[in-house]
Amino acid sequence: MPDREDHIDMLIAGGGFAGLTLAIALRQALGSSFSVALADPTLGRSHADDERASAIVTSGRRLFETLGVWQALAGEAQPILDMAVTDSRLDDAVRPTFLTFGGEVEPGEPFAHMIENRFLIGALETKARDLGVDLRAGAVKDFSYSPVEGGSAHQMEVAFANGSAVAARLLVAADGARSSIRERADIAVHGWNYGQSAIVINVGHERSHNGRAVEHFLPAGPFAILPLKGNRSSIVWTETTEEAKRLAALPDDAFHAELERRFKLHLGDITAVSARRVHPLGFFVARSFTAERIALVGDAAHVIHPIAGQGLNMGLKDVAALAEVIVDAARLGLDPGAASTLERYQRWRRFDTMTMGLATDGLNRLFSNRSDVLRVVRDVGLGLVDRVPNLKHLFIREAAGLVGEVPKLLRGQSL
Ligand SMILES: Cc1cc2nc3c(=O)[nH]c(=O)nc-3n(C[C@H](O)[C@H](O)[C@H](O)COP(=O)(O)OP(=O)(O)OC[C@H]3O[C@@H](n4cnc5c(N)ncnc54)[C@H](O)[C@@H]3O)c2cc1C
Repeated sequence: MPDREDHIDMLIAGGGFAGLTLAIALRQALGSSFSVALADPTLGRSHADDERASAIVTSGRRLFETLGVWQALAGEAQPILDMAVTDSRLDDAVRPTFLTFGGEVEPGEPFAHMIENRFLIGALETKARDLGVDLRAGAVKDFSYSPVEGGSAHQMEVAFANGSAVAARLLVAADGARSSIRERADIAVHGWNYGQSAIVINVGHERSHNGRAVEHFLPAGPFAILPLKGNRSSIVWTETTEEAKRLAALPDDAFHAELERRFKLHLGDITAVSARRVHPLGFFVARSFTAERIALVGDAAHVIHPIAGQGLNMGLKDVAALAEVIVDAARLGLDPGAASTLERYQRWRRFDTMTMGLATDGLNRLFSNRSDVLRVVRDVGLGLVDRVPNLKHLFIREAAGLVGEVPKLLRGQSL
């Protein structure tokens, strides 16, 4: 281990949505009495070429509002005003709508907004800087434990790729799906690949989407049309991995024809306005969300199918729960990295994550197939949900992240 440079309360590895949000939440709640540093080799780099977009559900928006981040984004966020779900074969002339959702969880409060990732990450980085979070542009390379003088408690020695090091009481792994910290901590993951990939692309169209999101459940997988600001939409188009690669490599004209075959012409002519990207899809949940003086958040802890647009929102739930647990411990003068503190976080999040992960997995399996029997089953089910207003409202509240033991920040309350 290199010589250590300084002692801090907590180091966050990873400055994606999860890591930055956690740093901001802790800094706001505890101020400089609690030292937080965040390391990521991509800090300070431009995100202009990340044209992907995410659905941020009500609870996530409330969190960003409470942290003072949403205010900078309001002009870029497109509310989802309603949602239509269809279930048909690719070339069916008509795609009957089986389920529609009015988009409000409470009067005047849309159940989700679409926001381009580059705006959200930019606003988070700016907020973290403005609050004076100790941001370090570099990767975490390794960690080990060192005994604290006079006691049996341990602290972490964390080494950076540039050779510097820091001593911390807690290391948070927010370093994404391929988390090297999770691996180094020997935490296994349970899950599987879907053999599916998502083609992600933004399109412009002649007519307004009027804030409507559309999800066509096609036999190869869901084809989602998600409204962006202006006459633009973000497409998340699921195919088998082999087919997704083939489609994404087609010349412009042929690709456009395939896109139009799925999108149809309800919004007039469409034009691709971003590069095509292909994301392989899988599902996993870490066997444990904690290890000695380590907590996993976001994609480091779980990755789910994007069918319900919940991956990042689940990460925000981790962040809100972990921040609440740490703030409670710090205010009582307790050790933020103590096993009891981390156990509270693990109990709060792991079961909930498993439930949501398996629900999205089930949805994908129910819809991504060519079985006529399953088609009848799901269409009867969707039709029933569509006709029972209370059930529909419950679904919307669940999707908006407002059901169960909801952390304070997601309810719009400060820590
Ligand atoms: C096609 C698709 C569509 C999606 N749509 C939605 C949606 O609509 N809504 C939604 O909620 N979710 C959606 N998701 C999921 C969402 O994108 C992810 O859950 C989210 O980006 C994860 O954020 P994160 O901060 O946990 O990880 P990441 O965004 O992966 O960030 C990890 C960070 O860690 C850094 N890092 C890596 N290694 C180290 C290291 N050793 N040291 C320091 N830093 C390190 C990386 O540079 C990176 O910045 C979608 C996913 C896909 C694939």
